[in-house]
Amino acid sequence: MRGRLVIDSLHGISENMGIVVDGGTILHVGKYSDIARHSGDLPVYNFDGILCPGLINAHTHLELSLFSKESFSHRDFVDWVIRLVESRSSATLEETHLQCLKAKREVEKRGTSYFVNVGNDYEMNVSLGRNQLFQFEQIGINGAYAGKILERARALLEELHGVDTSLAVHAPYSVSRELMQGIKSFNNSRGTITSVHLAETADEVEFTRSGKGRMADLLNHRVRKWTFAVPGMSPVQYVDSMGLLDEKTLCVHCVFVDDEDVNILKDRRSAVAVCLRSNMELSGERPPLEKFRRSGIPILIGTDSRASSPDIDMFAEIAAFYDEFHDLFAPSEIISLATSDAADFLGIGGHYGRIAAGLNNSLVYVPFDGDTEEASEFLVSEAAGKTEAVEI
Ligand SMILES: [Zn+2]
Repeated sequence: MRGRLVIDSLHGISENMGIVVDGGTILHVGKYSDIARHSGDLPVYNFDGILCPGLINAHTHLELSLFSKESFSHRDFVDWVIRLVESRSSATLEETHLQCLKAKREVEKRGTSYFVNVGNDYEMNVSLGRNQLFQFEQIGINGAYAGKILERARALLEELHGVDTSLAVHAPYSVSRELMQGIKSFNNSRGTITSVHLAETADEVEFTRSGKGRMADLLNHRVRKWTFAVPGMSPVQYVDSMGLLDEKTLCVHCVFVDDEDVNILKDRRSAVAVCLRSNMELSGERPPLEKFRRSGIPILIGTDSRASSPDIDMFAEIAAFYDEFHDLFAPSEIISLATSDAADFLGIGGHYGRIAAGLNNSLVYVPFDGDTEEASEFLVSEAAGKTEAVEI
């Protein structure tokens, strides 16, 4: 195929590029004039616009795709969680599954090629295909049940092949120390990523510092009898004291963090998945990206779910990200965050996140007739809704 403009972390922006594809794999990438000889009699498809790698959604919950954020008018985060849990229990499995598949296909067609998909419904999520890391999320604040919960989760994952999986910690206010440590050690034994929702709201900080506030209300509402040994520290410090943070941990949100927390994340080399539109909906605050960036903390971008975000289209998410953080990140850097940087952190760089020989994931095409130097900015600000996946 021939692309007028190709944007990729390996080559930057290149004009008049050729990508030779055969048998579903990229064989060569280079100047069209140089590589035309490699293509033999393969058909040439012309793309008179931008081609870029498929984007990686670093945090979503596909199983919540039947909701829309409008369904949950809420007065605060805890109220939102309670409404979400109630709505989930009244939805049928068939409808949930159908909407989940529909939402995933829709954004795949628009160029999201891989999902870090956190969910509780094992059967449904593993049926969604191979282009995901399914993070089987565990919840349980009472340490006495940690062994049973882990045993069941481990047994399910150990018998499954063909889909990337690991266990996820829901959050410090909903998972006991024992369960948190068990999840991390299981994932470590398999070398897989652990996601944890962390420092998403001020209520969470209040809870790990004092054991009181709205998170205590939530537990009172959801759990008949619960115990929590108050750590008296921030959520980041707390999960760090449990050994949860290292270079294979993906901390989701990290909105309510102080300087000490940022230093811990930096020292542990954990990554942060930023879900800006969800944060604006649920707390109205944004994570301190200036500090993360200055500390060299790996930053990934996710949409979160339709229960707190308008959609799960990564091009819409990077447009919101650019709008908010254009003083901090150049457009080309944002494209790297959502492609090669994410792929490298997740350990899937051999298949996703670049346009290079040997790769076999889909690319994205965006019609664009502007100048070369405006292409990256166009991609991160105006491409949403105009993108189209190109199957190779
Ligand atoms: Zn989430």
